[in-house]
Amino acid sequence: MERRSFLSRSIAGGIALGGAPVLAPSPPAQAPAGRPSDLPSPLTPAAHANRSSGYSPFTTPDYYTYADNLVIERNNPGKPHQGKVLAAVQAHSDDIPLFAGGTVAKLIDEGYTGYLIRISNDEAAGRTLGYGVVQNEIDYQNVAKALGCKKAFSFYYRNHRMDDCAEIEIRARLIFLFRVLQVDTLIAMDPYNHYDENPDHLVAARAAEAACWMAGGGKDYPEHYKAGLKPAHVREKYYHARSPQGHNLVNRVVDVSSYIDHKVRGNVANKGKGPAGASGSRLRQELSRQGKKLPLLGNDDETANFQYVKHFLMDDWKLLGERFGLQYAEAFRYIGPQPNYSANIRKYVDQHAVRL
Ligand SMILES: [Zn+2]
Repeated sequence: MERRSFLSRSIAGGIALGGAPVLAPSPPAQAPAGRPSDLPSPLTPAAHANRSSGYSPFTTPDYYTYADNLVIERNNPGKPHQGKVLAAVQAHSDDIPLFAGGTVAKLIDEGYTGYLIRISNDEAAGRTLGYGVVQNEIDYQNVAKALGCKKAFSFYYRNHRMDDCAEIEIRARLIFLFRVLQVDTLIAMDPYNHYDENPDHLVAARAAEAACWMAGGGKDYPEHYKAGLKPAHVREKYYHARSPQGHNLVNRVVDVSSYIDHKVRGNVANKGKGPAGASGSRLRQELSRQGKKLPLLGNDDETANFQYVKHFLMDDWKLLGERFGLQYAEAFRYIGPQPNYSANIRKYVDQHAVRL
């Protein structure tokens, strides 16, 4: 309860965006017997039955815990983020597309300049398809384009071995990039995602979180300043989680209904990774060899890939959206700008200083 209260205080003060009201989450439609009421609200069995696929190895919207003062972030008209810079940091090329691809596309459409930063080389991805690091890099660049990012960076640490890397080195490289790019806002995996079994996720998330703080100070890596760089003040963070968030409160649900096709295209571009890529065209070809077709998949490979991802793999974000009256949504623990203490002190001095 203390954590919940702390978060409630820290995000209080009207950060609902796009004129959106602060909404309480929908009450659970049906709570199984014996389930404590402060645990995540389950979706109804009917909602599960209506899913078009059983795909849910990653996100589980029914296991999220929602903050009392949850904010629904809706579309913001115009370009309110013009001039701001967004860094989407991920361990692997499918992390951001799956969990935050709609939000990245939305924020870029609203004015942000976006950069995608991948910490691993994804060497383990696509092996069964004959893929390697080079093809994964090509795919990764296409993911960045599909989401609207200006550029994609890769650090190339080995896949699933990041806990054997020096976290301090990953952090230092992120600090450098944050300062070079003058990052204002971060999207990354939640560094406190307790039940994530992938070691890379937590290492990357911790490095990104600390880099946000250290990039803004003058103490660390002062040689950057000798080289002409400026501090980067990363004031907003959107943290997404892969596993059940028993301890991590979701305090922001982003309406990505208008950007679901961007998200789908981002996942389709990830050919060697994750459940998306070219799965649709492979299924279409398999059916064709059997003298069958699935009308949903259309008549060409491109349509098949898009339709497969949109109709079979976006269920988790569709069900999450439905909880809040939206078509599609993504969930985050959002940390907004912190109070500017020195400005507040200066304001107080200006109001109260008297002549000697
Ligand atoms: Zn991953």
